[in-house]
Amino acid sequence: MKKTDELRKKLSYERKNFWNEATAAEQKKAFKFSEGYKNFLNACKTERESIDFYVKELSKQGYREIENGKKSKKVFRISRHKNAGIALIGKKPISEGVNIIVSHIDAPRVDLKQNPLYEDGTTALGMMKTHYYGGIKKYQWMSTPLALHGTIVKKNGETIKICIGEDEKDPVFVMPDLLPHLARKVQYTKKLGEAVDAGMMNVVFSSIPYPKDKETKEAVKLNTLVLLNEKYGITEADFLSAEIEIVPAGKARDAGFDRSLVLGYGQDDRICAYTSASAIFTAKEDLERTAIVYLADKEEIGSDGNTGAKSIFIIDFIADLLKHNGESNDSSNLRKTLINSQVLSADVNAGINPNFPSVHEKENAVHIGYGVSVTKFTGSGGKSGSNDANAEFNSKIIDVYNAEKVNWQIGALGKVDEGGGGTIAKFMAEHGSEVIDCGPGVLGMHSLYELTSKADIYSSYKAYKAFFENA
Ligand code: MN
Ligand code: MN
Repeated sequence: MKKTDELRKKLSYERKNFWNEATAAEQKKAFKFSEGYKNFLNACKTERESIDFYVKELSKQGYREIENGKKSKKVFRISRHKNAGIALIGKKPISEGVNIIVSHIDAPRVDLKQNPLYEDGTTALGMMKTHYYGGIKKYQWMSTPLALHGTIVKKNGETIKICIGEDEKDPVFVMPDLLPHLARKVQYTKKLGEAVDAGMMNVVFSSIPYPKDKETKEAVKLNTLVLLNEKYGITEADFLSAEIEIVPAGKARDAGFDRSLVLGYGQDDRICAYTSASAIFTAKEDLERTAIVYLADKEEIGSDGNTGAKSIFIIDFIADLLKHNGESNDSSNLRKTLINSQVLSADVNAGINPNFPSVHEKENAVHIGYGVSVTKFTGSGGKSGSNDANAEFNSKIIDVYNAEKVNWQIGALGKVDEGGGGTIAKFMAEHGSEVIDCGPGVLGMHSLYELTSKADIYSSYKAYKAFFENA
């Protein structure tokens, strides 16, 4: 090797491509890991479905509900079908601090309005009104097959879960876009973000009128209400309190000739939910520090609400872990525990998109296939609204990853002043813990079909496992 090359290797930082670095066996593991991940994505298109998935998985893995009271190293708590705290208790006292990985299981989507059903007077098509959830590009949701996932609580207290549009035999739904031939004035003169407004995002649900009486008003809507009543025992009033989410229909797929990528809905941030849960399930059982996986909801709308990361849920869970472990859970000891704790805010980052390179700054951006990203800060307008991790903790995490041969890179979200965004990191940091953002890059984030690399999925899993075992 030439002396300059040697010096460069010794002194320069260069991110490393997973596929160049990893052994054939390691590459095979990355591919295999992604099979389980795709199954998870297919089973879990909503926060509730993600929790249902993990309730089953936790019992398989030998975890007990903490309420159960029996002493166990593996405990969990579910809150309101939308949150989970999962803990593997370590050898050290919990008050010396825990290692938490927090991700979110909600994803940008379109919800049905509370009173959604109407019949369009001109066309006699049955239509449903919607209200979008999170940061979407509205035009992406038009003219694409959609599925309904939701929960209806009937007057008698019975809860019905619905999922229509995922099975190949199911019907799907659609919000029809405008044909280009007639879009000249209504859409093409407008800015991209205004070409489809929220009021145009109505979903076709039916077109056959109730047959008995031609004079019946809104006969298509009536006919469907009859159908729904026969199938689910519900009336229109049951929609008023229901939570029905509209998501892209269909399964996550391998992408690319070499199948090295995964294309699917809701990878922000179920990719981190899956990789962090897999990390705690496969971590060695005699951990020094207690490991916690926290699955949060409502991140895409600001982490508000009693299932969002701003709620008291995780603090209350840690207080009960202290008690479970025979330690004091008074206010002082709980505060000390939180201050002594370390948190990975596990969320996705924007990978450099070759179609839009101008919004990224390549030295500091996430490169797809170059491993999990360690992100010191997020925010916008001069790091505003950012956690901005401390150098000491940042360095510690990097040391752990290097020691465990995790393929990692640094990564910031976009060029300075190009836009920006935040994560759960700052809400966790409010409790005084050390917090840093860490997760894989994504292309087409918040679109219906997000693209990730199997290298980064697997590297995230390895990073999270290393954090639990060695940080
Ligand atoms: Mn996210
Ligand atoms: Mn997001």
